[in-house]
Amino acid sequence: KELSGNQFQFYSSDIDNRSIETIKLENDLYKALNEENSFMLHYQPKMNLETNEMIGMEALIRWDHPDLGLVPPQTFIPLAEETGLITRLGEWVLKEACKQMNQWYMKGYKDWTVSVNLSPQQFNQNNLVNVVMRVLNETHLPAENLELELTENLIIHNTCKTTTTIKKLKNLGIKISIDDFGTGYSSLGYLKNFPVDTLKIDKSFIDDITTNKNNAAITDTIITLANSLKLDVIAEGVETQDQIDFLQGRGCYLIQGFFFSRPLPPGQLIEEFAKKHSK
Ligand code: C2E
Ligand code: CA
Ligand code: CA
Ligand code: CA
Repeated sequence: KELSGNQFQFYSSDIDNRSIETIKLENDLYKALNEENSFMLHYQPKMNLETNEMIGMEALIRWDHPDLGLVPPQTFIPLAEETGLITRLGEWVLKEACKQMNQWYMKGYKDWTVSVNLSPQQFNQNNLVNVVMRVLNETHLPAENLELELTENLIIHNTCKTTTTIKKLKNLGIKISIDDFGTGYSSLGYLKNFPVDTLKIDKSFIDDITTNKNNAAITDTIITLANSLKLDVIAEGVETQDQIDFLQGRGCYLIQGFFFSRPLPPGQLIEEFAKKHSK
């Protein structure tokens, strides 16, 4: 029953604590979207082992909740998806990341690419291509410096519309990466129809790559597949030198993970990391 405005009261004792918490969090999320500085982006460097240079970074959203502190994206992104708030939130992320990347571009970091995660709902919104175009215009960022990370599961459904959207995005000049590659339910057939640039090997395969033969084999296969399709391949969640050695030995030179750096606020990324790993 609605009481007033957006306050609700629950009568049923069936509603467990978790769902009350969830509903409260949804409400807070809605409020946070209308406030400034509730959200911020941290950036995790992507490294090229061959040159020992940074090639760019992934933008990862953080929510600074007034009572709860930092709420992890795994908690609130699904909520934002369910409630449809993801389109507004996603657009904020895109714009903030492009604005930041353009500042770095102006400072001379012209070869970097900023990667932005797109959620399925955001990808499937009808005006996505226009939104991306507008954001690039408003932030003055060259399209070549933006990459969108899409997940496989988003790609399997409605392949026709998806192909059209990806082609339009590519025509703008931006790059497309398939995130969490290997964890989805899709067949590989789509890879020949979609003009994607990069496969990103999921952390779950990388974790025990040196001890688990199956995961080592899957990783190997993804690297080979990427090479034969002339796609870039990057490994995420890389934490140890052993993992680096394995990946390098198999021909995967692009690396993202705590081994190099955790996701950092923009200032820290430059001061503590980029200055040591750029031309
Ligand atoms: P993802 O896209 O797979 O992002 C990689 C996640 O792995 C990040 O977690 C990152 O901090 C973490 N990570 C990177 N390297 C390592 C490592 O070496 N070890 C470990 N243990 N973890 C590592 P984060 O930032 O908590 O994000 C989690 C997920 O939330 C992301 O997974 C992505 O699916 C989603 N997400 C984050 N930001 C956004 C956003 O702006 N939009 C959307 N739609 N989703 C986002
Ligand atoms: Ca990602
Ligand atoms: Ca990922
Ligand atoms: Ca992942």
